[in-house]
Amino acid sequence: MKAKHPKRIAVLGSTGSIGKNTLKIAAMYPDKFKVLSIAARSSINLLEAQIRAFKPKVAAVFDEEAAKKLRKKNLCVEILSGNEGVIRAATLKDADMVVSAIVGSAGLMPTFEAIRAGKDIALATKEALVMAGEIVMAEARKKGVKIIPVDSEHSAIFQCINGRDTEEIQKIILTASGGAFLRKDVSELKKVTPEDALKHPNWSMGRKITIDSATLMNKGLEVIEAHYLFNLPLKKIDVVIHPQSIVHSMVEFVDGSILAQMSEPDMRGPICYALSYPARLKKVLKPLRMPEIKELTFEKPDIKKFPCLGLAYDALREGGTMPAVLNAANEVAVEAFLNKRIPFTKVYYVVARLMEKHRPLKYGSINEVIEISNLAKVKAEEIVRSC
Ligand code: MG
Repeated sequence: MKAKHPKRIAVLGSTGSIGKNTLKIAAMYPDKFKVLSIAARSSINLLEAQIRAFKPKVAAVFDEEAAKKLRKKNLCVEILSGNEGVIRAATLKDADMVVSAIVGSAGLMPTFEAIRAGKDIALATKEALVMAGEIVMAEARKKGVKIIPVDSEHSAIFQCINGRDTEEIQKIILTASGGAFLRKDVSELKKVTPEDALKHPNWSMGRKITIDSATLMNKGLEVIEAHYLFNLPLKKIDVVIHPQSIVHSMVEFVDGSILAQMSEPDMRGPICYALSYPARLKKVLKPLRMPEIKELTFEKPDIKKFPCLGLAYDALREGGTMPAVLNAANEVAVEAFLNKRIPFTKVYYVVARLMEKHRPLKYGSINEVIEISNLAKVKAEEIVRSC
């Protein structure tokens, strides 16, 4: 079916890595996509440039002070602010799709409200599923909205499954680059700096996710995300280290056949697929030249060296509010590591200590999850201070 008008999109987190790439795609295909609203936390200089370039109807700034400054520029656009403002930008009546790309737990509520408003979601904010996967997916089913993954691994799996029945899936295999410290000895990890950890071998991403990649927590969060998104039990979700980041993930079917999705590691691929699904647009990625790649290798993840991955498995097994607590503690610990308050190896320690103390509860609403997450952040900060 051909769309009669360009797809009207809301971009939440427009000044982050995914947001900027989304806007690049919108600029490449002005006949296919119209940017209706954009939202950012506080980077108003970039937001101003984006407003001038894309002329959205609405722009939202989470930080009130930053919003005030932006309003003084007298741009021809309505500037909203605060949580309410971001939610309005996520739920505009005319929007066809919301690109959910706010980093961290702050992205949960706007994503959920967009689903409640019946918007299809291009989902980059994995925290929405990690923290409240059951409620988020139930609401999406109720409203008949599509949640199309932007996370490269989940996009790969989504593309390989291609609408097939869950019963035909033997398992899914998430690939992980292994991050900046794949080949480092465990004894060296105590001394690594944020600068070392931010040197990702293949992908260019935001700071938080690059650290998560180095601890393998990112892969753990992605296992939880995949569990909810594809409705598969933990035993059907494998993780394999693939240092070249060419195979973005795989699906093994019941007949023993495995499908993989491959491309250069470039987020514009999965972003564009989510925006244009089920169509594929031309010239998004540089095609792979197999003889230049030469080899693709796979190995088992070392959970002893990267124990955060094991914590994520534990959190999913325990269920209820535990994944939200894992995520909250990790956000605090990663921030503390980036600010050089704790060493790299203490990221695991902070998350593990908090999980030990937390008794998982069943949650009934998004607000409940957010409350537990906020409380967990306060407690995680106490653990950071005691480190
Ligand atoms: Mg990913």
